[in-house]
Amino acid sequence: MSTIDNINFLNKKAIIRVDFNVPLDKKTLEITDDTRIKSSLKTINKIIKAGGAVILMSHLGRPKSGPEEKYSLKHIVNHISKLLGREVKFVANCIGEEVKEAATNLKSGEVLLLENLRFHSEEEKGNDNFAKELASLADIYINDAFGTAHRAHASTSIIAKYYSKENKIFGYLMASEIASAEMVMKNTKHPFTAIIGGAKVSDKILILEKLVDVADYIIIGGGMSYTFFKAMGGNIGNSLCEDDRIENAIKLLEKAKQKNVKFLLPVDSMTSDVFGNDGTRKTADSMDIEAGFMGLDIGPKAVEEFSETIMNSKTILWNGPMGVFEMSNFRNGTVKIAEAIANSTSNGAYSLVGGGDSVAAVNQFGFADKVSYVSTGGGALLEYFEGKELPGVAAILND
Ligand code: AMP
Repeated sequence: MSTIDNINFLNKKAIIRVDFNVPLDKKTLEITDDTRIKSSLKTINKIIKAGGAVILMSHLGRPKSGPEEKYSLKHIVNHISKLLGREVKFVANCIGEEVKEAATNLKSGEVLLLENLRFHSEEEKGNDNFAKELASLADIYINDAFGTAHRAHASTSIIAKYYSKENKIFGYLMASEIASAEMVMKNTKHPFTAIIGGAKVSDKILILEKLVDVADYIIIGGGMSYTFFKAMGGNIGNSLCEDDRIENAIKLLEKAKQKNVKFLLPVDSMTSDVFGNDGTRKTADSMDIEAGFMGLDIGPKAVEEFSETIMNSKTILWNGPMGVFEMSNFRNGTVKIAEAIANSTSNGAYSLVGGGDSVAAVNQFGFADKVSYVSTGGGALLEYFEGKELPGVAAILND
């Protein structure tokens, strides 16, 4: 199989699907977080060094119908030029004559950024002709946008069919995302502990159903745990609860029992009478939360029990915070779990943190470089763990 390390880029043009969907300041349109751009530099630099030319394509935001000034990729050209230390050319469309001309004239070592793919509705529709036109611009197709790998869009999936197997590859970011997900799901070392938190059971039910088949321990934290406590007949006061998911929760608990998976819920909770930092705080048994109070974080006994399980694990997946970590009074559980994952990692466990808020938490609390891998793909990673085929991955691997 061709890889970015064994393909010949000399005098070739490579079109890379990157994820430059970066947050921009609403007023100044300046980039507020350039992590996604930085993650793609290794792939771009590799091609330049190997004597190739680079065409970059991405989406930015959610334009409704056609071009919108605030979603133009022209706002990020200067920043990428600075990061690459070379001029990045820009063309104000991603298909058409102007684009063809710019691509044809592109020389080895040069970089061209195309305008937002989603200014054309054909991108999200996975239109064949649109994909073919993009493909006509370059000799080699590289997908380095893990964040959109779960979408069968023209630039993430359909385009690949216009390249021979030797000329379509993953970029470095995609390759390491896939390798890290496989470390957890395919090359799993046991015990495997999955830690799932966050607000809602409904968002995580599919991943939980899959994890019951593969994990040894499932740790549940965050708002979603109270639907389970209610399902078990507990008093949960004003805690978050999805009544229409109680049935799911009961089935999941039964399945875990059948499969001999240890399902750990937080035995105690840090509760408050208001959703904020300024209420009365009390530690409570999670099965018996006082009326008028709500569970906003896991309690000290839960921290201890979860940390011990994490320390004894060889593979760890973490998605979703243990409590309302945005509020200083309810961040302890999330910080302590991040710390336990970091300690277990330094003990030899493989740890993958993925999904928006747990990624934000490891970054905010300084654990990002103390875990094995922090994924850049929220939805794509979840779908991978739900057992779905990712169109962006399949398009490269299949003929
Ligand atoms: P998610 O996007 O589903 O991973 O959920 C993350 C959000 O869940 C964060 O904004 C947390 O503040 C919130 N959250 C976590 N625990 C609780 C809780 N016990 N009650 C209410 N919200 C929570």
